[in-house]
Amino acid sequence: MQIAKTIAEMKALRMKSFGSVGFVPTMGYLHDGHLALVKQAQDENSVIIVSIFVNPTQFGPKEDFRTYPRDTERDLALLEKERTDIVFMPSDKEIYPEGYRSWVEVEKVTDRLEGSCRPGHFRGVATVVAKLFNIVEPTRAYFGQKDAQQALVIKKMVADLNMNLEVIVAATVRENDGLAMSSRNVYLNPQERQAATVLFKALTLAQNLWEKGESNAETIRQKMTSLISKEPLAKIEYVSIADAETLEELTEIDKPALASLAVRFGKTRLIDNTILE
Ligand code: AMP
Repeated sequence: MQIAKTIAEMKALRMKSFGSVGFVPTMGYLHDGHLALVKQAQDENSVIIVSIFVNPTQFGPKEDFRTYPRDTERDLALLEKERTDIVFMPSDKEIYPEGYRSWVEVEKVTDRLEGSCRPGHFRGVATVVAKLFNIVEPTRAYFGQKDAQQALVIKKMVADLNMNLEVIVAATVRENDGLAMSSRNVYLNPQERQAATVLFKALTLAQNLWEKGESNAETIRQKMTSLISKEPLAKIEYVSIADAETLEELTEIDKPALASLAVRFGKTRLIDNTILE
């Protein structure tokens, strides 16, 4: 496994890579969700590149950029075990040197949900992912359904800007009790960790209601909200049933819908989702 810390090193290694390149961008503190993306990339490509970069521009001023969990040594050991070929781990200055001035804005699909709760978040995400794509030049890039809106934003950016790669979205990997794996789960104390199981319960409720024939989006939203509200440690930011492509809130579920939520447990903000189709 080779490690590139500068853009020049990364490009030099890319020049020597033959065949298709599968790329998995991450912010590190890897878990089985990330590793599932690496495994899928491994199955579908000849060369595997993983980036580890906690992107400062996608965090708001009051968000957890400084405290975001980091453990490079452990990450590298896990990636080595998965037979990753190249790890790109640039510094903040390498990606955003003095005088950096260019940004990628994806409109509309970024207005709602995470976009409205975290102003500027997707501008940071789209910009860093565009830069990583230009540096790594992957054949295929892998993202998790866990961050459903992010996956839509990246797909839109790739289509609109004619980027020459395929975006692949892989299923959410969960703990045994249903909690979606996330680097941020490490922030939860034992009580909050237990309380956080309500997210998957609410999504399962939505799925069950939908499968039993409930197609009124507001009824499903209300039942999810009422279930989560019974958990004293949970503070809801949003519960949404939206068009799975445009993310516009639905009245009636008459097309594939994304049931998604953002909930705080103490200082930790968690998101999760499921598709109703
Ligand atoms: P992050 O390091 O949180 O930025 O995540 C890097 C990539 O891993 C993103 O495409 C995420 O959507 C994906 N990811 C994070 N958690 C999971 C999970 N539990 N299951 C599948 N993919 C995930």
